[in-house]
Amino acid sequence: MTDKRIPFSLPDIRDEDIAAVEGVLRSGWLTTGARTHEFEKEFARYAEAECAVAVNSCTAALHIALEALGVRPDDVVLVPTYTFAATAEVVRYLDAIPVLVDSEPGSLTIDTGQLETILSCLRAENPGKAVSDATECGILARGTARTLKARAGQLPKAIAPVHFAGQACDMDRILTLADDVGMHVVEDAAHALESTYRGKKVGSIGDVTAFSFYATKNLCTGEGGMATTNDPDLAARMRQLTLHGMSRTGWDRYTAAGSWWYDIERIGYKYNLTDMASVLGLSQLARVEEAHARRVRIAERYREGLSGLPGIHAPNDTGEGINAWHLFVIRIDEAEVGIGRDRFFDELNGLGIGCSVHFIPLHFHSFYRETYGYEQNDFPIAADGFARSLSLPLYPRLTDSEVDRVIDAVRSISARFSDGA
Ligand SMILES: *Cc1c(COP(=O)(O)O)cnc(C)c1O
Repeated sequence: MTDKRIPFSLPDIRDEDIAAVEGVLRSGWLTTGARTHEFEKEFARYAEAECAVAVNSCTAALHIALEALGVRPDDVVLVPTYTFAATAEVVRYLDAIPVLVDSEPGSLTIDTGQLETILSCLRAENPGKAVSDATECGILARGTARTLKARAGQLPKAIAPVHFAGQACDMDRILTLADDVGMHVVEDAAHALESTYRGKKVGSIGDVTAFSFYATKNLCTGEGGMATTNDPDLAARMRQLTLHGMSRTGWDRYTAAGSWWYDIERIGYKYNLTDMASVLGLSQLARVEEAHARRVRIAERYREGLSGLPGIHAPNDTGEGINAWHLFVIRIDEAEVGIGRDRFFDELNGLGIGCSVHFIPLHFHSFYRETYGYEQNDFPIAADGFARSLSLPLYPRLTDSEVDRVIDAVRSISARFSDGA
């Protein structure tokens, strides 16, 4: 066979996108300006949020969200262990403590049962004892208990749920729990551009929602991100943090005649998004529904093509809303398939199919192990999800025949090894 390799991910950049960027390049204004403000307006409209602040990454959006919400050194922020580095690292930027939480077995999103246990333990008369008891009964992950006990029963300041693979978390439950203890909700929506939850657009639900426009994401500007919120004051605080804490941006000074003056009102960062990136975002946002419809069709084709395969579990659409289908994560049951995820990955790779693994749980990484004493079996659901998960290619440019090649490859590998078992 001379079939071309199918890459794991491929951005959908079209002539109209290139023309839009060229327009900016020829315009004489490259960095944050009119096009970025237009992108913010359009994005807010799309996300059904009052305000949107453009930044140069989702990581930056998460960081300024927590800072603007008042997270301070030694505050506790709850983060699922099943996520990318960014969700927890921003907590560390603020010298706060990321307390990790295990996942729901199906969706691999943050386990809301564990959240409820955590909060009720912390509000008990003797939080330390409540945490120990809950851990001994097996209703609280050991890793969570260890970091919580070190914080002496302190209530969390914020929670950062992750809409893993594009399926929204149980936001009603999370918001109720957060409300009870006055905890802020900052959603990591890096996978959830098009997602909804019970009729609400992701981006309009929590205190702040952070989106990513990284090269592999559903909308990509190379690097980029957006923070949405319904609170204009919060948006203003975040906006100031994106550009050195200055009272006026370069664009303001350029457009308002004679106003060269600015004041540094706080310490900020260099997180602004360029007009080059913003037009690329605007251009893709105009066809977001079309791109998403294609993702949905690919996911359906995968689900049909992979159904009935023993030991290969395709993701169920169990969420209460639209799934953005950023990732298509299958789970491989070694006992039934005859080989484990690592070997399956290599076999697919050998057949010219690019795959990936999302995610290595945070508590597996040396920083988190060494800093907080985590062990791999501290979060059993996340550890099991990680051991069995494999992400297949999923992007609008993938053709039906390529999807079928991926399906055939999965079927042939699983037939080969389960026969030999
Ligand atoms: C990609 C990703 C991020 C980081 O996005 P950047 O734009 O690269 O900062 C954060 N969280 C999750 C879950 C991601 O997949």
